[in-house]
Amino acid sequence: MAEALLLDQFGVLHDGRRPYPGAVEAVSAAAAAGLRLLIISNSSRRSGGTLDKLASMGFDRQCFEGVVTSGELTHRYLTSRPDAWWAGLGRRVFHINWSKRGPASLEGFDLEVVSDPRDADFLLAHGTEAVTVDGDELVAMPGSLAAAYSAAGGRVVLMGKPAPLIYAACGQLLGLPAGELLAVGDSLEHDIAGACAAGIDSLFIAGGIHARELMPQAQGPAAGGAAGGADDGAGADVDMDALRRLCEHHLNGGSDGEGGGGAGGGARRAPTYVAQRFVW
Ligand SMILES: [Mg+2]
Repeated sequence: MAEALLLDQFGVLHDGRRPYPGAVEAVSAAAAAGLRLLIISNSSRRSGGTLDKLASMGFDRQCFEGVVTSGELTHRYLTSRPDAWWAGLGRRVFHINWSKRGPASLEGFDLEVVSDPRDADFLLAHGTEAVTVDGDELVAMPGSLAAAYSAAGGRVVLMGKPAPLIYAACGQLLGLPAGELLAVGDSLEHDIAGACAAGIDSLFIAGGIHARELMPQAQGPAAGGAAGGADDGAGADVDMDALRRLCEHHLNGGSDGEGGGGAGGGARRAPTYVAQRFVW
């Protein structure tokens, strides 16, 4: 049994605005059962505000041992410059921001932000996801730009899921090896592919970003919330044939750039467990 859960936020705990039915209770029950809980997030923000936001939605912040965001990792790497590649990256940055959730700040990064990309040493694009769930909508994210840049021959370093470095940071923070962790997420391309590449067991939540493909008879977990009770998304079956096809696409064929595709021979190519949503 896992010692700790690495919990994705969007699509698992909440939809960006509201917690999913049962998620607040599941977090409390998991912590009460002795599981250590860590948020693993592709948020561009540094870790600091994450628990505030979760608390504002009703989650008990005491249940979480910590938060690892891609924004925090980016700050850590750009501050400490751990190897020659990072050291040689330069300090003039063209910052591609994503402002709908509020622009991510580069305060404290010791970088010079330039307004013309031709003056930049490197580009920094917030948001590693290609798409995300925003309310009931799927929204394009700068990960789509990174994929195009990579396809055009540019070097792209992913600072969030599915890159192994964010899983390593989680293991370090917890002081646990991969075998003691269970990653919980709703994105095959990010959460499940990342867990597979890092050798971590995974629990795939079908009612998140893939809900329309896997649970077409449900309106999505949040949409059923008004009905209350047990059938708000939880009663719908997961289309396992569709899931196999999606796993084939996202985990075996794979369109990931570097960092995601490194699963290599012998890595698992499917989630370890599947659930409609994160409930206890
Ligand atoms: Mg998610």
